[in-house]
Amino acid sequence: MRDIKNEIEQADYVLVGIGSEWKAQEGMENTILEAYNKLADILKDKNYYIVTTCYDDIIFDSDLKKEQITAPCGSIRRYQCENGCTGVIKSEDEVNKDSTCPVCGGQYVKNIVKADKYNEEGYMDSWKNYGTWLSRTLNRKVVILELGTDFTYPTVIRWAFEKVVMINNKAYMYRINEKFWQLTEEINEKAESIKMNSIDYINKY
Ligand SMILES: [Zn+2]
Repeated sequence: MRDIKNEIEQADYVLVGIGSEWKAQEGMENTILEAYNKLADILKDKNYYIVTTCYDDIIFDSDLKKEQITAPCGSIRRYQCENGCTGVIKSEDEVNKDSTCPVCGGQYVKNIVKADKYNEEGYMDSWKNYGTWLSRTLNRKVVILELGTDFTYPTVIRWAFEKVVMINNKAYMYRINEKFWQLTEEINEKAESIKMNSIDYINKY
C-alpha cells in the first residue's frame, strides 16, 4: 500500500472527485464542512481541481478555493427558468419571490440537475476551466482522490477519472468509499481502494 500523504506531497497535480457520501444530510452539515476544511488543509500547497456531484453548496462555504471547483449537477443557490430558457441564470440574491423569466414568463426554479429542464449554463465556465486544467496534467504526476462516488452520474467522476488513470502513465488513484470501493481490472495496478466512508477518512487523515 502506498503512503497517500507522501504521494500527495510528491504530486504535481491533485484531482479530487466528491460524490454522494458528501451529500448534505440533516444534522451532518458540520461534519461535512469540517471534512472540506480538512481537505483544504491537505491540499493547501497543491495545484488541485475538484469535481463534485453535490449541489448543496456546502463546499463553497469551506476554505477550498472556489475557482478550483466545478459542480456540474448545479447549485441550490442559483436559479433558472423552469422552461430552461438560456441566458437567465440568477444568483440567490438576484431572484425574489415574484421573479419570472424575462423570456417566457416562467417561474424560477433551483438550477440543479433535478430541474425538469436543467440549464447547464450555470456551471459551464468552471467546467471549461476544469478541462483546461486537466489537459495540463497529461504525463505529469497526478494523484487522484475519488471520494465516495456512486453510479448516479458516472460520466462526471467515476468513469471519467478511470479514463484519466488509464491514459496518464503517471496518474495514481485512491478510491475511498464505503459501499462502492471496487476497482475495475483495467486500473488495478494504478489505483487502490480504501473501504471506508470518505468523510471519516478525510476527518481522520
Ligand atoms: Zn423562460
